[in-house]
Amino acid sequence: MVPDAGYFIKGVDNLSHQALGSLVFGVPAGGLLLAVLYSLRSTRPLRPIFSRTSSPIWILVLSLIIGIWTHVLWDSCTHIDGWIVMHSELLQTPIVAFAGHTARLCHLLWYASSFGGAIWLFLAFENWKQNSTSRPGAARRKAILQDAVLIAALVVLVSLVHHLLRNPVGFALTIMLSIVVALQFVFRMQTEPN
Ligand SMILES: [Zn+2]
Repeated sequence: MVPDAGYFIKGVDNLSHQALGSLVFGVPAGGLLLAVLYSLRSTRPLRPIFSRTSSPIWILVLSLIIGIWTHVLWDSCTHIDGWIVMHSELLQTPIVAFAGHTARLCHLLWYASSFGGAIWLFLAFENWKQNSTSRPGAARRKAILQDAVLIAALVVLVSLVHHLLRNPVGFALTIMLSIVVALQFVFRMQTEPN
């Protein structure tokens, strides 16, 4: 997610999505974010993430580089102004048109991967959380999957609102929905497995 932090600093979003610029911006920004998370490691929501021994610095930097470059690569396959989309007629294939917007194959890939990615992240976190406890029962597993789908649907909703409502109302809605997603996540993190 680090390259998108560039959107918060005027004029940096371009740099944070370039092949080398993404590293110049992303490695220090990602390091800073990790340092902030590490300083909060003893708080209850973050405790499960830090229950493992920490990795050597080079593993952290390598993970950041892999994360940053796969983000930039995937953006270029899913954003209408992405380099790969602009060079691929297939990815520009119109799927459906509504209210003056045309949804193309690249958009579909974007939303499908956001949905799938959010579910995967949530399940990976739950797996982490339950590693030290006994395996969850069938009912608990179903509840976890429902939570994952709910969070993923919210993530897609935030992206849709941000994409379709390019005005102050859309901006306010995006921020509000993002806070709801973050609160949902923190709330689920704090719920102990039973
Ligand atoms: Zn991006």
